[in-house]
Amino acid sequence: MESARTEMEMPKNCVQSPACAARHGNAFSRRQVLRLAGLAVAPGVAACRGLVAATDDETRVVEQTRSKKSPSQELWVGFSQVDITPPVGAMMTGPGLARAVGTDDPLRARTLVARSGDRMMAIVGVDLVKIRRDLADAAIAQASQRTGINRDAVMICCSHNHSSPFVPMGGPNNADYLAKLPRLIADSIEQACQALQPARMFLGRALVFDGLHNRRVISKTDGLALNTWLRKVSDLERTPQVLGTAGPIDPELWVARFDARDGRVLGTLVNFTCHPSLHDRIRLKTWSADYPGVIADQLAKAFGKDVVSVFTQGASGDVNPNTQFDANWREKAGVFASAAVHAAQNAVPAKGSVVVDYARSDVVVPRRDPADWRPEAVARLDWRPDMFEAAKRQVVHMPPTREVPVNAGRIGPLGIATNAGELFVDWGLDIKRRSPFPHTIVSELTNDWVGYEPTAQGFRQEGYEALVGPNFVSLKGIRILVDTAVELLRKLWEKHSR
Ligand SMILES: [Zn+2]
Repeated sequence: MESARTEMEMPKNCVQSPACAARHGNAFSRRQVLRLAGLAVAPGVAACRGLVAATDDETRVVEQTRSKKSPSQELWVGFSQVDITPPVGAMMTGPGLARAVGTDDPLRARTLVARSGDRMMAIVGVDLVKIRRDLADAAIAQASQRTGINRDAVMICCSHNHSSPFVPMGGPNNADYLAKLPRLIADSIEQACQALQPARMFLGRALVFDGLHNRRVISKTDGLALNTWLRKVSDLERTPQVLGTAGPIDPELWVARFDARDGRVLGTLVNFTCHPSLHDRIRLKTWSADYPGVIADQLAKAFGKDVVSVFTQGASGDVNPNTQFDANWREKAGVFASAAVHAAQNAVPAKGSVVVDYARSDVVVPRRDPADWRPEAVARLDWRPDMFEAAKRQVVHMPPTREVPVNAGRIGPLGIATNAGELFVDWGLDIKRRSPFPHTIVSELTNDWVGYEPTAQGFRQEGYEALVGPNFVSLKGIRILVDTAVELLRKLWEKHSR
């Protein structure tokens, strides 16, 4: 089921390590070899590719660095952010597909590049509702070509902000903007590579119970799920009794903080599990990074204006903020942002040597059978039947299987598992439970888009996410994606535990 791609595969222009250089039979100067060992400190593409001769100052720092630690133990990180805000007039993501009239706060591609020894990985947090596979592949190919970073080592992680551009399956809508997007994401990865420098890792976590909920409740009338935004839920005639929520939330808000040798905070990697649908987009029709943008702003306010925070969205397929598209969205986002600042301030040093590594598998998963639903399943929601009809027609025309990327990475004790869809929170907790890492985060909507991914119980209980259209990967396929993520985490854990 897996593609033949191997994680050790090197790009043609690979100059990442002395070992690799030796394999390729290239002759390098001593300075270049020091750079290739991952020890150069100067900004510039050279930090990634080792092609530019070092200055004397750089060589001195390199030699001092080498005397303290071997390159395999050394953590280096670089951060960057690039503006990806679409123009005014571009089409916003649904519902309504409005044309944007302005920008509340800019959309960005924020990147963390982490490296130890010859292993270098990029995690890009993008302010997009989702990304198509062809766009992610193009961004990864460009970044790989420019920096030498391995294609399997790049995660393009959508925050899922709802005040972002419409990303159609194809066609003319937003085509000009989307054509530019891969280059902008690759720019961000390249700039983060150029900023690589020695760093220390700190881990912090807050538990957040304010402002989010599992957005599926069980109606006593039929024992099935209703989504909390449906009018029917507030109608005592039609929903006389609700038997609690259909699933949990995941309260973990993670902040991995990276400090320079001099103690300056360089940036953070943030992970939280809740739909970013707070920004008042229906009324304002403006671009906004939603609460992940507020988290990044508050962390920069607390730790320094140049601090970049890369946000990854957890398994939030069935988790919403308590109010959506809210006039007081900034205030409500501030609850999550305060928790992030608190976690970053109380972060503790990562134990042991901080190994960076990555793995990717492209797995083939079966499509959902479009006939697999009850006609009454849409009617009972009493909400947007036309949307379900249109989405179902798209599923009918999909091929019976599709190849989907799954990535995993590690930075020291932190494992990162990805999924390409909108994963139900129970699946995210399942990955955390089965992961061998002391700490694990899940990044959904990464490197592709495969719709909603309910659990077996979620499918049985129906509701918006479980119907054909919003969901188009079968339960079997979802299991394959989750199991693959766990398998990759295990591989990365065992590889460095022997
Ligand atoms: Zn969603």
